[in-house]
Amino acid sequence: MHPENASRRRLLIAGAAGLAAATALPGLAHARGTDAVEPDIDSTADWGARAPRGTISLLPYRPSRIVVHHTVSTNSNDFSRAQAHAHAHWVQDLHLDKNRWVDTGYHFLVSRGGWITEGRHGSLRALTGGRNFVLGSHTSGQNDYAVGIACEGAYHAGAVPPGAQWDVLVALCAYTCARYGIPSTQLYGHKDYGATLCPGVYHDLLPRLREEVAAARGAQPSTRTGLRPPR
Ligand SMILES: [Zn+2]
Repeated sequence: MHPENASRRRLLIAGAAGLAAATALPGLAHARGTDAVEPDIDSTADWGARAPRGTISLLPYRPSRIVVHHTVSTNSNDFSRAQAHAHAHWVQDLHLDKNRWVDTGYHFLVSRGGWITEGRHGSLRALTGGRNFVLGSHTSGQNDYAVGIACEGAYHAGAVPPGAQWDVLVALCAYTCARYGIPSTQLYGHKDYGATLCPGVYHDLLPRLREEVAAARGAQPSTRTGLRPPR
């Protein structure tokens, strides 16, 4: 079993109260040696992932940015943890059986109900360690540099992301930035790097995402770092 931890519940409470910064609440657990709340992440073992098709490459350095995606799944109104696990299976099956990839392409997924699941095997252990990451398959030309985080749902046709998903995406990005020393400005969307509609409205929300991630880390975004996507 992998019980909910206190930080997740507090995050969801913060979300229910509006978009108040989770760090404004007293007593939040803090991650080891970082300035961001450590969110609860269900590992591949927790959701019962299939074994990878082959060897997953561990890159011996830190990623320098995050790329946000959507999975173009049905916009389910089932916000349960079980649905998050079902979604993780759906994505992995697609990437293993249709794309013939070694494993899920994304490092992490955030469900519409605000549950985080590990995507590619090894991503969570690497993130916790903060010194390396596994090679993903999510953004052409960026897989050697970027952590791929995918949001359950389809947001290219006007759908609005649920509040819980937004709040937990902020928390996961803040924690990932803290563990890897990624500036809060270095958050991008898939369409910054190719001809795609991904991640839909989440792309329009990137300026706000950068601001809220900076706030969650107790710092303002640097105005000296350009916001154009690095190549
Ligand atoms: Zn994408």
